[in-house]
Amino acid sequence: MIEENVKSILSGISVNHYGERVTLVAAVKTQSPQDINRAIRAGVTDIGDNHVQEFRDKYDSIEGHPTRHFIGHLQTNKIKYLLGKTDLYQSVDRFELASELSKRSEKANLTSNILIEINVGCEESKSGFGYEEAIAAYSKIKELPALKIKGLMAMLPFTDDEEVLRPLARKMRVLYDGLKKIDSDICYLSMGMSGDYKLCIECGSNMVRLGTSIFGPRNYN
Ligand SMILES: *Cc1c(COP(=O)(O)O)cnc(C)c1O
Repeated sequence: MIEENVKSILSGISVNHYGERVTLVAAVKTQSPQDINRAIRAGVTDIGDNHVQEFRDKYDSIEGHPTRHFIGHLQTNKIKYLLGKTDLYQSVDRFELASELSKRSEKANLTSNILIEINVGCEESKSGFGYEEAIAAYSKIKELPALKIKGLMAMLPFTDDEEVLRPLARKMRVLYDGLKKIDSDICYLSMGMSGDYKLCIECGSNMVRLGTSIFGPRNYN
């Protein structure tokens, strides 16, 4: 099942309307190392964790050296567990986190790749910078010495109303294009989960984070 899901997703998403390759990140929260490894054997190249503890518990059981993303809310005191093991911190949602990540990366002689998380739907339940403050946040984070900003991440509201989702996804692409013009490191717009990834790719996303559509419904027990 996992294998078939991965193959059918990969064959459906390869390139977006801008001619950019779309990266599939498997959102692996609650999944066993066995199931994650099945997904990797079927073609998943990138995996994303939400929880530091899970990331640590499973780290050594994952095969095939996938690219590692962190996609959850990150407390600054837990950065140390991810440092040097995370290829892309997707969920940089506040300046304090960026600043601390830069400080710790610098001490470890590393440059950490990040995405700036934007709360494009202005939802209280979600973290991230406001859309209107995105450019200011970018400029401030850009000055931190040990980070490289690779793009933007957003989670759209949980609705299947395309009239709500489409304008938000388009707004994110506008912001992304603006940054891309001034910064050649910018190459990822991470937007799209199981419920909305097709729409997001249509609107210009080039990285999607999928859990349910790869592994089926999550079991939180
Ligand atoms: C869980 C999660 C996903 C994947 O959600 P699905 O709806 O299961 O595809 C994507 N992004 C983030 C940040 C997540 O926490």
